[in-house]
Parts: sequence; C-alpha cells; structure tokens
Amino acid sequence: MILDGKLVVKGIREKLKKDVLGNKITLAIVVVGENSSSASYIKGVMKTSEKLGINIKLVKTDENVSTEEMIEKINELNIDDSVNGIMIQMPLPKTIDQVKVINSIDYLKDVDGLTDISMGKLVKNTGDGFLPCTPLAVLKTIEYYDIEIEGMDVVVIGRSNIVGKPIASILTNKGATVTVCHSKTKDLKEKTKNADMVIVAIGRKHFLTEDMVNEDAVVIDVGINVVDGKLYGDVDYDNLINKVKAITPVPGGIGTITNTLLLKNTVDSYLK
Ligand code: NAD
Repeated sequence: MILDGKLVVKGIREKLKKDVLGNKITLAIVVVGENSSSASYIKGVMKTSEKLGINIKLVKTDENVSTEEMIEKINELNIDDSVNGIMIQMPLPKTIDQVKVINSIDYLKDVDGLTDISMGKLVKNTGDGFLPCTPLAVLKTIEYYDIEIEGMDVVVIGRSNIVGKPIASILTNKGATVTVCHSKTKDLKEKTKNADMVIVAIGRKHFLTEDMVNEDAVVIDVGINVVDGKLYGDVDYDNLINKVKAITPVPGGIGTITNTLLLKNTVDSYLK
C-alpha cells in the first residue's frame, strides 16, 4: 500500500477551511537574509495559506542581524495579539545564537514546536504543547491509514532535535516501543529487519534498501535529497514498494503534509 500524502493533507485542509472561515488568523515568518532553500519552503507555506485564508506576516531581517536584535523582533511578535503563530526559517547564520533565538518564542505561539518548552511538553506528554510539523506529519499519516501504533516495534533512523527525537517521543507516547538509531548504531540492519515500522530521517539518498526490512513492515521516508535537480527520499522506494506492507513515496509523502500542519498549529493557537 502506498501511503499517499495528498490524501492525508486533503482531509486536514477541508477541516481547516471551516475553522478559518470568518476569522483573521496570522502566522509570522521570520526570515534572515536570502536563502534559496528557505525561499522555496516559504513559497509553499504562502501558497497553502492563501488557499486556506490564513494571513502571513513576513518579517525580513538583514543577514548581519544580531542575536539581540532578533530576540527583540520576536518579543514584538510575542506581544502582538494579531499574531497567532511564529516561525523562524532555518538555517540561521552561524553568527546568531540559534538556541537563544528559538527559545525567545512564546511557547503559546511556537507553532513549529521547536522551543525547549514545547520539546519538554512533548517528552512529558502533557498534551498542551505544539508538536513539530514533520514529526506531526508522520503521526497524521499513520493515523489516516488506521495503522495501530500501540505495541508496535518501531525503528527511527536519525536522532536530530527537529525530526528523529520528536518522532520517537510521539510514538513512545502513543504506546510504541521505539528504538532510535543513528550514525553510531551497531548492527542497524538487524534492528530494522525485526521492526514493524521503519522511519528514516537521515538525508541520504536510497539509504534503506530491500534487504534491511521485513515483508510486514511499514516504511516511512522523511528524507529529502536533491541530486542533479531531482528529489529522492532516504528509502530505495522502487525496490521496496513490492516487498513491504506500506510505504510513503518521495515526493508525495511526508513532505507534502508539513506546511499544512504548520498552518493547522497556527489555527489551533488562534482557537486556544
Ligand atoms: P540531520 O542532519 O540533523 O540529522 C541526521 C541524522 O541522521 C543524525 O542523527 C545522524 O546520526 C543520522 N545519520 C546520518 N547518517 C547515518 C547513517 N549512515 N546511519 C544511521 N544514521 C545516520 O537531519 P534532519 O534535519 O533530521 O533531516 C533528516 C532528513 O529529513 C533530511 O533529508 C532532511 O532534508 C529531511 N527533512 C524532511 C522534512 C520534511 O518535511 N519531509 C523536514 C525536515 C527534514
């Protein structure tokens, strides 16, 4: 079975349109300098927000902005009642203290789920924080296709703060037994072979091959790799599609859902 991101996103957008109707909801996006990769992501968010009737407040700053100046800008957005969500486009220039800047976002407007408070709430499973959008896209896909998470043996490959770790926490909270693997993991294949679900988020084209999974596995590909202008996932999709139980494609899988969930979190922030 192909786990189609377009179908997952359709239902979410239909519900969002109803929630947005008649309300003025605004997401602030803070952008530092010019960055082509962030420009395309922001373009995607803006296109979706237009379809849904959500306003975008683009806050552009100079490449040479200081940490203090950025925090000042974010504080202005924190106290601005017309702003419901704040997102900072990554990567930030190396001269900026990324941790300090992210943590200056009021967690009530942290619709990207990246502050330490949001992460802490996720790990503690308090239920009142925003979940980061890519991990949330993984959860929404699993739920849309009625895949029972409780009791599953899940292997997550990748342990980054924005993808791997939050995915592991979300699924642990839902009752899965999660093994987090990374570049220092021994015998990775032995772990993935025995897993009911394998989620790959490392950024290496076609890393997960046919011999690494079993026939009943659900495979979720978070990877985005652009090689010679073409998009590839972390999973060798063509060779796994006829072997495993279910699989997400790239493109058309997890990446398709992410920006809609950023806007969903913004709407939820407004409704709260
Ligand atoms: P990252 O570079 O921060 O982390 C990569 C992780 O992969 C690390 O934990 C590292 O230990 C692990 N890793 C690297 N090589 C490995 C190997 N050979 N074996 C096992 N583990 C290995 O990356 P990230 O920000 O977490 O992103 C991961 C991938 O997900 C990238 O391709 C990125 O483009 C993609 N991504 C997709 C979306 C989306 O919306 N679909 C959003 C964010 C990131």
